[in-house]
Amino acid sequence: MSIKVDKVTKTFGQFKALDEVSLDINTGELIALLGPSGSGKTTLLRIIAGLETAEAGEILFHGEDTKETKVKDRNVGFVFQHYALFRHMTVFENIAFGLRVKPKHLRPTDAQIKERVHELLRLVQLDWVANRYPAQLSGGQRQRIALARALAIEPRVLLLDEPFGSLDAQVRKELRQWLRRFHDDLHITTLFVTHDQEEALEVADKIVVMNKGKIEQVGSPQDVYHNPASVFVLNFLGNVNIFHARIEEEQGAAGKPRRMYVRPHQLTVSRFSLSADSVKAAITFINPAGSMVKIDAKSRQGEIFQVEVSQEEHAQLKLAKNDEVFLTPKKITYCEYDI
Ligand code: ATP
Repeated sequence: MSIKVDKVTKTFGQFKALDEVSLDINTGELIALLGPSGSGKTTLLRIIAGLETAEAGEILFHGEDTKETKVKDRNVGFVFQHYALFRHMTVFENIAFGLRVKPKHLRPTDAQIKERVHELLRLVQLDWVANRYPAQLSGGQRQRIALARALAIEPRVLLLDEPFGSLDAQVRKELRQWLRRFHDDLHITTLFVTHDQEEALEVADKIVVMNKGKIEQVGSPQDVYHNPASVFVLNFLGNVNIFHARIEEEQGAAGKPRRMYVRPHQLTVSRFSLSADSVKAAITFINPAGSMVKIDAKSRQGEIFQVEVSQEEHAQLKLAKNDEVFLTPKKITYCEYDI
């Protein structure tokens, strides 16, 4: 099912939570709504779900306006950060719930429900917990059951609000890879809200970066990371260093100051100056634990640069704290002229 968000505005009192937001989601896409706290992600998700109404704009499901469609008729599955499963019901009954409350003429038989619930439990790889109660599950297992419950009604759209937000880092990582594979199998149009850029970059087909009730950029993870549309996107998607330069030879920008933004792994570290853009800095910190070696270096002007070099480069350069080095941009991720 495709979704079209067309100039949606939502205010709470004086506050504009969404400001003419437009977005096109294709059938079967896995979309991350990414942004800082208060940027409007949840509000947008709730409006798409029909749990909240917009003052202006439209939400179209497969080209049809949803204004008259009630929440229960939208065929949407939800999973929230703290989506409390029914504590007094077994896992089996939790998943079966959405099927049991269907109107009589649509309700499956007991045998069909049993088959469906076990099919979903197998899908989330938890067939062995059917008779347990939620309290007897780990946080990660509970979220997978919440997902199975959301899928029971065969939704055409899946909406997930920080589904792994309350879990510890390791479980989060496992579940996000699991969600990716899971989506690859089922291809349900899925929107998930997150403020974690790593999660969005790793899981989504497309990332929608939000800031203050507006969309800053929509693009593939690669796009938003390597070709950010604004300084906000640039900063939100990872660490970045600023270089100041005055370009003489470039057409149209002759002599104008410019600010170049460079990601930590796109800096070359050398013992000698490599170009006019090289900045001299003293190493203040080295962290070799990880796939890349992380280095902090301070320029004479007091700016701190964050650098990442490979383990091999680090060994070759024999870098140590307090060493003076030169930092030269290999690739500039973003450039500002009007400063
Ligand atoms: P978070 O990651 O913190 O959940 P978010 O990007 O999902 O943030 P929203 O929950 O959409 O942000 O909220 C956007 C803004 O709208 C916030 O400033 C919030 O305080 C405000 N807001 C949301 N719901 C209401 C409400 N029911 N009444 C008043 N203000 C609200």
